[in-house]
Amino acid sequence: MNSEQDVLLKVDNLKKYFPIKGGVFGKKTLQYVKAVDDISFEVKRGETFGIVGESGCGKSTAGRTIMRLLEPTGGDIYFESKNLANLDKTQMRKIRKDIQIVFQDPFASLNPRMRVFDIIEEPLINFGVTDRQERVRRVHEVADQVGLTLAQLKRLPHEFSGGQRQRIGIARALISKPKLIIADEPVSALDVSIQSQVLNLMKDLQKEFGLTYIFISHDLSVVKHFCDRIGVMYLGKMVEIAGKHELYGRPLHPYAEALLSALPSSHPLNKKERIILTGDVPSPANPPSGCTFHPRCFSCMDICKTVKPTLLEVENNHQVSCHLYQDTGIVENNPQDSPLLYQEAGVEIR
Ligand code: SF4
Repeated sequence: MNSEQDVLLKVDNLKKYFPIKGGVFGKKTLQYVKAVDDISFEVKRGETFGIVGESGCGKSTAGRTIMRLLEPTGGDIYFESKNLANLDKTQMRKIRKDIQIVFQDPFASLNPRMRVFDIIEEPLINFGVTDRQERVRRVHEVADQVGLTLAQLKRLPHEFSGGQRQRIGIARALISKPKLIIADEPVSALDVSIQSQVLNLMKDLQKEFGLTYIFISHDLSVVKHFCDRIGVMYLGKMVEIAGKHELYGRPLHPYAEALLSALPSSHPLNKKERIILTGDVPSPANPPSGCTFHPRCFSCMDICKTVKPTLLEVENNHQVSCHLYQDTGIVENNPQDSPLLYQEAGVEIR
C-alpha cells in the first residue's frame, strides 16, 4: 500500500482561515481564525482514514475544505492526478461525482419536503443523467444496497428513525458511484445500537464497491473500530498520524496519549492511568506560540513555548509533531516511568 498509485487523496499544507472583521464599517480584517492550519496527509485507495480530535479542532472544516464546500486559504488537494484547489466551479462540479459527503445530522441534512426517492435521485439530475428510466433503476438499486424498501422511497424524511435517515444520506452519497466518501460524524447523532448497524453497513458497502472513506469523529472507540489509519487534530493542526494499531498501542504525542488514556482497557488486568488535561482549548484566533498544545502539555519543555514542531515520521507508519521526537529519537513518555514530571506539571494521574 505504499506505492504512489495507491494514494487516492494527497492533502498538502492545507489551510482554511476565517477572517474576523471589525473597524468602523466592519470591513477591516482584524484577525483570522485558523480553523485548519497547514495540514498534510495521504489517503490510500480502499482504506478508511480517521480524523479525530475534540470539538472545534478543525476536523469538519478540513473535510469540507477538501471537498471545496469551503474555499481553501492555501495548500493543495490532489485527488488522483488533479489538484482540486486549482479547479474552477464547473470542473469541481464534475469531480463531486467521485467525492461525496455524509453529514452528521440525519435530521437536518435531508430536505423535509422531498420524498426519499427524490432526495436520492437529485444528485443524478445534478450530474446530468437525463434518462429517467436509468435514474429510477439506479435509485432502486442503491435503496436495496442500503436496506430501504421501494415503499419507503415514497415517504418523507420525518417518517423515518435516525438510523434509517442516515441510510438515506448514505444512499444519496452512493448514487453517483463515488470513489471517496467523507463521513462527517455519521453516527454521533444516533443511538449506540443503531450506530453499529450504520457502521456495519458502511463497512459492507466499502468491501462491495472498493470505497475509500475519510471518517471524521470525536469518538475514539468508534474510530478504533472503523478506521485503518488515523490523524489526530489539535487546534487546526495534525499532531499525530499513525496506523490504528500503532496509535492505540503506543500513542506518541502527549495530546493523543491523554485522549486515549480515557478509553477503557481491553484487558481487565491491564489497568491504564487516566491523564486529565488541565486548561481549556485555546482560541484558534489566538493560538499559543510554539507548540499550540504547550499550555496544556505535561511534557512541555522550554523549546515548546517558542518553536513550532513539525510532523515527522519517527517510526514506520507513525508520524508525530512534537519536540520530544524531533532530533533525539523517541523519549519515553509514560506516567508510570516519570510520575514526577507529570505531578510537577499539575497533571492528575488516576
Ligand atoms: Fe508537549 Fe512540547 Fe510535544 Fe508540544 S512539542 S506536545 S508542548 S512536549
